[in-house]
Amino acid sequence: MSRNPASRRPASAPTVGFVSLGCPKALVDSERILTQLRAEGYSISPSYEGADLVVVNTCGFIDSAVAESLEAIGEALDVNGRVIVTGCLGAKGDIVRQTHPKVLAVTGPHALDEVMAAVHKQLPKPHDPWTDLVPAAGLKLTPRHYAYLKISEGCNHRCTFCIIPSLRGDLVSRPVDEVLREAENLVKGGVKELLVISQDTSAYGVDVKYRTGFWNGRPVKTRMTELVSALGEFGAWVRLHYVYPYPHVDEVIPLMVEGKVLPYLDIPFQHASSRILKLMKRPAAAENTLARIRHWRERCPDLTIRSTFVVGFPGETEEEFRQLLDFLDEAQLDRVGAFAYSPVEGAAANALPGAVPEELKEERLARFMEHQARISEARLSQKIGRTLSVMIDEIAEDGIATGRTMGDAPEIDGIVTIEGGTNLQSGDQVRVAITHSDEHDLWGKVETTRG
Ligand code: SF4
Repeated sequence: MSRNPASRRPASAPTVGFVSLGCPKALVDSERILTQLRAEGYSISPSYEGADLVVVNTCGFIDSAVAESLEAIGEALDVNGRVIVTGCLGAKGDIVRQTHPKVLAVTGPHALDEVMAAVHKQLPKPHDPWTDLVPAAGLKLTPRHYAYLKISEGCNHRCTFCIIPSLRGDLVSRPVDEVLREAENLVKGGVKELLVISQDTSAYGVDVKYRTGFWNGRPVKTRMTELVSALGEFGAWVRLHYVYPYPHVDEVIPLMVEGKVLPYLDIPFQHASSRILKLMKRPAAAENTLARIRHWRERCPDLTIRSTFVVGFPGETEEEFRQLLDFLDEAQLDRVGAFAYSPVEGAAANALPGAVPEELKEERLARFMEHQARISEARLSQKIGRTLSVMIDEIAEDGIATGRTMGDAPEIDGIVTIEGGTNLQSGDQVRVAITHSDEHDLWGKVETTRG
């Protein structure tokens, strides 16, 4: 076997043609892009012919430079046809697209990440098992069979108890094809469950006006419903976290009924009193949440709803707290987490009057949890006698297997302890007859080893 790294490059390494115009600053940009392309395993070609696509780094300083750049782009399009434009001319309004509407992507100068994203989109990054430190699926901190899939960063809301927007900025949605490619790689790498996360999953794509992207030659909107529908085609469990009850959430319920997405919604309601929700500046505070939940359950009776709440928010009265308990009775949520309000440095809510004394906050938290425990217990007991699909998470040394139903997210929800699971492995999906329950967990026996 050869020890020459160059000869280990797959013969079919994708090739990028590169044209660099302009000043020394543009040259440095070119060098950075070329270095990155080589580091990722692309071959570089000095000519247009034979390249899989061409990157043209342009100059837009004076008219003659503009003309030269536009001419180079036109030549690359004529000879090769697939052209990505970067550099100063890209920052000059729409001039590139107006002259050459067929270019694949246009970025401004110093845009290494954007150029690489455009290249990846057109020409997926080659995976070389000899030289790559990480598998195509990337490195994961979760067990092999499930993975978190982050679809956006930041948040457009300004909930008064939260400082995330000031730390991470406004919503920035990841391109839909990039998310789908990551998900596909994860599933190819053995992942059986994708946990979709963000600060506000239902807002996915708002920042890019639900732009249409392309996946496997098919248009896919940058929007929650379209994204999760496409994710559902990979054959893994798809679980939605941090969804807000906007009207378009109704659209994912049929996908749950079809089995494309798990019948599970993690929706942080935070409170039930409309006055407190307004003080919290919660998104969708005005929605009629109970009617929504009823509607979802009518259409998808197996829907599991998980939520989180804050008790003892500044100004919360005993009556408003009781409203919250009444809400729990009506909503019959399956899983609930709660926190006693505590001021976070920099949060707007700190300035609100009527801080609830610590002792009272703790007392309300205990009452709240006790109240919900009865509801969760009753709901879980309805599963006794049913046979449910379970994803195996762990086999203990004594051979006892534990797993989760479709209604249980890893780490935060309950588990199923399984009798007769000695031959199982983590990531297996089995049918389990449920025999026993408590307020958090289930117990059962393996019925069939097919989920
Ligand atoms: S709590 Fe509110 S502001 Fe904070 S991340 Fe969630 S939706 Fe955004």
